[in-house]
Parts: sequence; structure tokens; C-alpha cells
Amino acid sequence: MPIFGKPKFASISTSKTKSKTDKKASKDWFKCKGCSSMLERKALVELLNICPKCEYHFPMTAHDRIELLMDKKSFKEIDKDLCSKNVLGFEGYDETLEAKKKSTELSDAVVCGFGTIDKQAYGIAVMDFRFMGASMGSVVGEKITRLIEESTKRNVPALLVTASGGARMQEGSLSLMQMAKSSAALARHSEKGLPMFCLLTHPTYGGVTASYASLGDVIIAEPKAMIGFAGARVIEATIKAELPDDFQTSEFLEKHGLVDRIIDRRELRKEFSLLLEFFKNAGTKEKSTAAEA
Ligand SMILES: [Zn+2]
Repeated sequence: MPIFGKPKFASISTSKTKSKTDKKASKDWFKCKGCSSMLERKALVELLNICPKCEYHFPMTAHDRIELLMDKKSFKEIDKDLCSKNVLGFEGYDETLEAKKKSTELSDAVVCGFGTIDKQAYGIAVMDFRFMGASMGSVVGEKITRLIEESTKRNVPALLVTASGGARMQEGSLSLMQMAKSSAALARHSEKGLPMFCLLTHPTYGGVTASYASLGDVIIAEPKAMIGFAGARVIEATIKAELPDDFQTSEFLEKHGLVDRIIDRRELRKEFSLLLEFFKNAGTKEKSTAAEA
């Protein structure tokens, strides 16, 4: 269930009352959420969806993200066609699933698979916020769990790229069960001495933050991403206190030890490749622990 309100940086909607010219303008150009500059959509894609003026990181689709983090043509997707079912008979859920499958060309809110970066093999799962706010239902949980289990079997590290409003309310407690299932798979991956990395992108909330997004051996975040469990407004109303302006930003979390590093998207490929190399050279976690003992 997306338990935070509207994302602070939700994409711009086009009003039905706008003229045709306005509609075309808002299709090609839009206002930056970070600095209010007018940005051209096409130009922004070439800049990895980063505002050239304020460096605000706009969301990326799962496949764009994979292209950024994998060697060309190395990515092989797994469980591509796994789809959610409306087991609770939630009103309107079937229609929403169909509409999202059509508009995003994805079967659910996560894309998983294996490939290489600078010839180093690893497993990757990337959540896509366009699919129902990347809420975690049974398919998202199952695909992530299978990716981790397969990474354990293949003896390779894993990278989980998160963006989510939280657990999927249309699947009730089945969604919540995914937290324990994916965490258990990660524990087995870790027992084998294999590293797992998390990349938290804007926004990461709810059950995803409370499970696999917080379990990485190295937790990376993109600049100014909003990351939390419940949203700031809910917390403020509950504890009846004013929260700092930068509350739940990557920078705030890094300052308080919940995030290890903040990495600019333009540096991500290089930095992640170095991290993989470092863990490989340092030996598996198992070996390091044995050496310490
Ligand atoms: Zn900007």
C-alpha cells in the first residue's frame, strides 16, 4: 500500500482544459521539479534524466537503468511474463493491471535478469515506478526472491534498484509476506558470502524500505531521493513535531548512517563496477569472516 501521500516530485499532468498548443508544449517541454527551469524532454534523455541546471535526478525506466548498468547486449531477462492475479477480487485491480501492462509494456513493476558490467557477472532487479507506483505485490516479491536465489545458485553478487510507494494494497497481506520471503532469500545469499548492493532511487517507501532495500552490504542512494517508511506528513501528524526540511532525503539518511554512499547517476556505472571489483578482490564475505576468526 503506498502509505505516503502524493510523491513530492510527481510527474506533471496535462489538464484536459489546456489548448492543443499547450498540450504539445507540455509534451515536449516541462518545468524542472528541482529548479523550475523549462526542460526539453528529448534533451533530458541524453543527459540521463538529470536537470543540467540543478542536477535533479528524474526517474528512469527499468530498461533505461539496465542499459546504464550493464554491458551492451549482456542482459538476459528472467521471469519476464510473471503476472499478478486479482486473488482477493479487489475492485478495479484487473483493469488497472491491464492498463499498466499496456502503457509500460511490462508484466509488473520489476525487471530482473543477469548480465555483466565491465565483464563482471551479477544479477539485477530494477523496479519501475510507472507500474502502479512500483508497489510490491506477490509478483514483485516473487521475482526479486527468484533473482536472489538464482544469484546464489550462480555464485554472483546482486544489485537491487528500488523505487516504490510500498506494499500493494490490492493484494493485502500477500504483499506483506513478500518482505519476509525476499529477506530470507537474501540471508541465504549472504550466508554463501556473496555481496548484495542496493541502489535507492526516488521515491523508496513502505514495505520495500522495511525489507530488501535496507539489507544491502553497501547501500547507495541517488542525490535528493526521498526514502522512508511512512511519509513525512504522517509522521508529523503522529508525533506532533516539526521535522527538518531535509527529512527523508538521501543526504539526511547518509548523515544518520542509513545510507552508505550517495552517487551521482553519471558516476554510477564506473562506481558500481569498482565496487564489484573491490568485493571480488577482497574475496567473498565468507572468506573475510574466516580470516578474521
Ligand atoms: Zn532543475
